[in-house]
Amino acid sequence: MATIETVQGPVDADDLGTTLIHEHVRFRDESVAEQWPSEYDADEAMNAALEQVNATTEHGVQTIVEPTAMFGGRDVEFMRRVSGETGVRLVPCTGIYTYDYLPHYFANRSEDQMAELFVRDIEQGIQGTDIKAAFIKCAADEPGVTPNVEKVHRAAARASSQTGAPIMAHSRPASNTGPRQLEIFTEEGVDPGKVQIAHTGDTDDLDYIEGLLDGGAWIGLDRYGLEMFLPFEKRQATAAELLRRGHADRLFLSADVVATIDWFPDEAVQGLIEGGMIREDWSMTLVFEKVIPELREEGVFTDETFQQVFVENPKAWLAG
Ligand SMILES: [Zn+2]
Repeated sequence: MATIETVQGPVDADDLGTTLIHEHVRFRDESVAEQWPSEYDADEAMNAALEQVNATTEHGVQTIVEPTAMFGGRDVEFMRRVSGETGVRLVPCTGIYTYDYLPHYFANRSEDQMAELFVRDIEQGIQGTDIKAAFIKCAADEPGVTPNVEKVHRAAARASSQTGAPIMAHSRPASNTGPRQLEIFTEEGVDPGKVQIAHTGDTDDLDYIEGLLDGGAWIGLDRYGLEMFLPFEKRQATAAELLRRGHADRLFLSADVVATIDWFPDEAVQGLIEGGMIREDWSMTLVFEKVIPELREEGVFTDETFQQVFVENPKAWLAG
């Protein structure tokens, strides 16, 4: 029986239950937070995380896959507290979230040395705790698959090969990163069935999406509410068509919420909402409150689909 690592310890894969595949309880740059801690309000961050995660329990969520890696301020003790207070399991990762930049530490070390650290997180524990990583995160964005990004992808692939851990790759369809990301993983010998190309739902180009599906990857339609990348209605039309074409067994629905994020001053976030770049109802419950009801009305989403997308798919991807 496969077990999945969570911040509350390993659980039987069959017990994961209803699972949200991509939500962040907090997102911030750990170097800024370390150097200027007074810029951060710990209570506010915790309360925001608790509010978001608690709300999901009303929709039966038992597990949230939390893909915050290096440069997102991964902090498994923070996650353990959120999980302890809400009763929702959080599934942590290892990996590096960069669009190109790497610290000298990694610039001057090999892919294999990077992979060694990922493996340590997976096999021994993260940040001196007994909490183990369940998957590996990496990213490619507007700069494309730069040499540094490729290095992280190869390290992720090698750590996956050594441990069997699945990979979640942040992608940018507008820069056509997905196919190359998948290609690197398969070059390294990773089974594409272990690979989730996150943010594939940022495009409504069905040929691009089905290219990744044909390649054997999982796809994340996981940024509902982030209008700046693709408006909600287009996300829905794309999801509906993918469901009609029989891809329910290969996709995920989520919102990529960050309960708090330090990338922008507070007033700028408000500006994004007012400017229509982010939906006002962007939240960890958006998929349950709006996405699924609309897809049901469209006739492409049933109770069976729910079981597939929110229970079977997360289990299958995580358990490999
Ligand atoms: Zn994310």
